Amino acid sequence: MGFFDGMSVLVTGGGRGIGRAIALAYASEGADLFITSRTEKELKEVSEEIKSRGVKGGYYVCDISDPKQVEKMVDEANKFMGKVDILVNNAGIFIMSEAKDMSINEWQMIINVNLNGMFYCTHFVLPGMIERRFGNIINISSMAGKKFYLKQSAYVASKFGVVGFSKTLAAELRPYNIKVHVICPGGVDTQLVKQHNFPPGSTIKPEEIADVVLFLTKQRREITIDEVMIRRIGADPF
Ligand code: NDP
Repeated sequence: MGFFDGMSVLVTGGGRGIGRAIALAYASEGADLFITSRTEKELKEVSEEIKSRGVKGGYYVCDISDPKQVEKMVDEANKFMGKVDILVNNAGIFIMSEAKDMSINEWQMIINVNLNGMFYCTHFVLPGMIERRFGNIINISSMAGKKFYLKQSAYVASKFGVVGFSKTLAAELRPYNIKVHVICPGGVDTQLVKQHNFPPGSTIKPEEIADVVLFLTKQRREITIDEVMIRRIGADPF
């Protein structure tokens, strides 16, 4: 018996990194999972790992920056699991460039995935949650959603946007028993930040973010933890 037996969880960017760790953590505690990203090979591998834990593990290839694909993806998630109780808006991209050197295409890509994609997923999942008067939405922002970093203007803009969206959404959804949480991690040891070259020992493990996500969704319905900042001690004084 697991804490999340009977619960249905949708994780965007579930094929690797933080999303994979979150999906496997929920599966280990009894939830059914549906994961999405653009890389089928990764989704397939993670869905096998999910199923080996004795729960349902489905996937759908989707670019979350395209609302039409997101509508279909959420439809498939609802068909596969019967409902979505927990939505983890995790998929994201990172490009390092000074604003003066950034192309229009790079700017649009970051905003379309990190901010617009998060809205599209939320938009299509919400009607079911509102109807059932139950849900948790976890949005993965970043320390770059709390302070600026040089050469990251588009990323910072997208992640500040995620924090602002999450806070407003949390207040709007309180009457419907839907909780919204935003997590702002410092450097996490994944493919996304390879260009960063974080010094050894300065990053968090994806599994440590997963622990926090599960903790947030284990709280009693009458309390909520809206925002969490998490980073390796000493790595980024703030
Ligand atoms: P990874 O690159 O390891 O994983 C990102 C995931 O998002 C992949 O599964 C990727 O799959 C998916 N993804 C990217 N673009 C799209 C898209 N257009 N449509 C659907 N899926 C997409 O990065 P992390 O695990 O590190 O990042 C996860 C989240 O955590 C991101 O939002 C990131 O900004 C945030 N974060 C990361 C930090 C870090 O230091 N690593 C720190 C703070 C926040 P695919 O490419 O196949 O589509």
